[in-house]
Amino acid sequence: MSQRRVDVLVVGAGPAGSIAAMVLARAGASVALVDKARFPREKACGDFIGPRGLQVLADLDLAEPPGLDVGDMIVVGPTGRRVLLPCFDGTTYPGRARAVPRTVFDDALRTAALEAGAYGYEGRADRPLEAGTGIEGFVVTADGVDIELRADFVIGADGSTSHVAASAGLVDEQRVLWGFAVRAYLEQLVPLPAITLWEPTRWQAFPGYGWIFPGPDGTANVGLGIGTRADRRAGAKAVRALPAYLEHLVHLGLLDRVPTPPTKKLGGWLKMGMVGTTPAAGRVLLVGDAAGLVNPLQGEGIAQAMTSGRAAAEAVLGHPGRAAEHYRSALIGAHLPYQRVTAAGHAALVGRPRAVSALGRVITAPVLGKALSGGWGIFWNELLDGAAPGSARRVATASTWFARAVTSRTDVSRWFADTLERTPDGSL
Ligand SMILES: Cc1cc2nc3c(=O)[nH]c(=O)nc-3n(C[C@H](O)[C@H](O)[C@H](O)COP(=O)(O)OP(=O)(O)OC[C@H]3O[C@@H](n4cnc5c(N)ncnc54)[C@H](O)[C@@H]3O)c2cc1C
Repeated sequence: MSQRRVDVLVVGAGPAGSIAAMVLARAGASVALVDKARFPREKACGDFIGPRGLQVLADLDLAEPPGLDVGDMIVVGPTGRRVLLPCFDGTTYPGRARAVPRTVFDDALRTAALEAGAYGYEGRADRPLEAGTGIEGFVVTADGVDIELRADFVIGADGSTSHVAASAGLVDEQRVLWGFAVRAYLEQLVPLPAITLWEPTRWQAFPGYGWIFPGPDGTANVGLGIGTRADRRAGAKAVRALPAYLEHLVHLGLLDRVPTPPTKKLGGWLKMGMVGTTPAAGRVLLVGDAAGLVNPLQGEGIAQAMTSGRAAAEAVLGHPGRAAEHYRSALIGAHLPYQRVTAAGHAALVGRPRAVSALGRVITAPVLGKALSGGWGIFWNELLDGAAPGSARRVATASTWFARAVTSRTDVSRWFADTLERTPDGSL
């Protein structure tokens, strides 16, 4: 079996892994970037890169791939009532997102990492290679040929069902807030992106939400996502419900007709709210979905993948002796204030369809919905940090304080206090 030693082994060349590999390689580190897929590859996604993801591209001098800029969004409540969520420039991010098919976006980031000097491997990281008490690499299998890749650091960027995280014992499966979402591409012009809070039966909300987003070339990306907490068998409900959801979009006037069958249907798991995953220990650092960074309210994860990939690379470069600790602190600072309250809220709402229905009606109610919409757009898109001063930021701040008060004694909050906020040696 052939062998190679590098400074950093990055497993997974999605946005998290490619950004990490690129930052490391630009700084002169030797990096192996391994992915089991042949690029360009498909990835189930709504294809929206949020404002913070676009900011990472700008910060790293990476061109935005061809796509479609999107700003304001409509939210359609369970009764069909619509609220416009306005999009504002922040002080640290632009006031827009961008629709780019993941086949294009992920390939561009991986290419940038390889151009920066990372070695690309097409193969599956399989058997972990132990050193002392930790993992120092993987046997990577490609086309039936094995290679041993060893490194000073292993960055697990291998998505929500991360093999690196499981191999390093960093996931408590019963604690994780799992979600599953399925998307399809349709021929449809979509003037404004729409999120729908759907009630298949009156006062019995679907346990997630659906969307119809514009794509860059006159296609629409349509999908449905579901929260399942630890029950991963429940994910199939989203796939089964997709045809009825498409009918619902026609009923709402957001889709001209139901295509038969919807094209390019693809589903995937989301690991949300950071709960249940220890993001780093020893020489293993988890980034993006592997670290469970997906927003528990709306399923966004690309921007978090990119920012965490960069943070992990900077921790390795800047603090090689204590990279795990520094990376954990960076994640806690960037995400915990938001994830703590929204993960607890999400956990409380899964399995309570009446409560979800009630909430959907309140936030799309005629006067209240409009009054809250600016702040809501900031709050639920995790954009409070860096939001420009004004009434929308005040509403988002008040919502965060309210949510923190309501969720402070939950099981989820206790997990954060007992696990994530402890230093790696166990002391607080
Ligand atoms: C249906 C759906 C819609 C979504 N819509 C949006 C959206 O519109 N906007 C948004 O921001 N987020 C969205 N998300 C979330 C988003 O897709 C993820 O948060 C994002 O892809 C995370 O990036 P990542 O780099 O961490 O992981 P991934 O993009 O999942 O990349 C992981 C990579 O690891 C590779 N890999 C896995 N295991 C191994 C192994 N053992 N060895 C080698 N390689 C391996 C995989 O092939 C893959 O390329 C959506 C998710 C779903 C499922």
